[in-house]
Amino acid sequence: MDMPHTTIGILGSGQLGRMLVIAAAQLGIKTHIFAPDANSSPAGEMATNATTAAYDDYAALDQFAASVDVITSEFENVPSETMAHLAQFRPVSPGTTALHIAQHRVREKNFAREHGILTPDFWHVRDAASLHQAMAELQGRGVLKTCQLGYDGKGQIWIDPSDDLDASFAALGSDDAILEAAVDFAAEASFLVARTADGRIAHFPASLNTHKNGILARSVAPAPISENLVTSGQEAGQRLAEAMALVGVLALETFVTTDGKLLFNEIAPRPHNSFHWTIEGCATSQFTQLARCLAGMALGSTHSYGQWQMDNLLGEDMPGLEQLVAEPGLHLHLYGKASAKTGRKMGHTNRLITA
Ligand code: AMP
Repeated sequence: MDMPHTTIGILGSGQLGRMLVIAAAQLGIKTHIFAPDANSSPAGEMATNATTAAYDDYAALDQFAASVDVITSEFENVPSETMAHLAQFRPVSPGTTALHIAQHRVREKNFAREHGILTPDFWHVRDAASLHQAMAELQGRGVLKTCQLGYDGKGQIWIDPSDDLDASFAALGSDDAILEAAVDFAAEASFLVARTADGRIAHFPASLNTHKNGILARSVAPAPISENLVTSGQEAGQRLAEAMALVGVLALETFVTTDGKLLFNEIAPRPHNSFHWTIEGCATSQFTQLARCLAGMALGSTHSYGQWQMDNLLGEDMPGLEQLVAEPGLHLHLYGKASAKTGRKMGHTNRLITA
């Protein structure tokens, strides 16, 4: 085959972009980061090129589009107008439909239901009165979330029936919210599927995830869950990816209920924190798979080499760095972020737990 001469344009400048840039570079693929803080950002400092401009700076977007072959976004909350504009000039990933759906919690849950995937009970909450109504129907504990722009447990309030609902609604500070029934889950599992522009599919082994304060703390993979659950999660991910005409990778986060059912939590049409273990753990990492997809190359094998554990390193974990560096066989990944704030993702570690 011809050498891949592609330049991938990436919107966003965080660690996901950085790891995509590194994977692309290994394949001889150039990258161009576009973000309001592109220079000296985790992704910008590694990329071939970086443009620092706002997502509504159309002159800068036009120049960016002209300098790349294909465009992706490392975060799903890129303004839809930005992607729609870029889509006029270059193929875009994950695609405007995928972004539109994944940007809104009610939209993504409705979409899952329409495709036969179970979700927790949920209500669209637009004002305090609709929260009262929803809690009356729920008759139990719930979690109120902003429909848009929430991440890592931000924009979420747990609610008990005895709580002051007016105060809870006011505290969330959004008139576009979702109330979800609190799921008493046995485990959380995530799935990742890659899909090429011509519809080829590759599934990664599933991850089993533990969160602390709404932030992913640990993933173990391949997940020690039944073959049936893996198959139904992979089928669900594929059904959604195909229905959205997704190009790239799609992560599906789920709850495994105590009675063994899989419930949809959310989707992310991009590489996902719970699959960082694939960097050393799989024949093809999630970032390499995305780079291959965008460059029009064949998808790689997702075979995993044993069972892996990925642990996030947050700002507060950084004092333990010296000890981690000394651990034999530990794969340490740091994102080059300057300040180690509490709750901020600074890096992660991958450990082989069973060969
Ligand atoms: P999210 O941003 O929606 O993925 O929420 C972050 C984490 O909060 C999830 O991974 C769960 O650990 C927890 N969580 C969110 N929604 C629910 C729910 N409806 N029931 C139980 N736990 C939840």
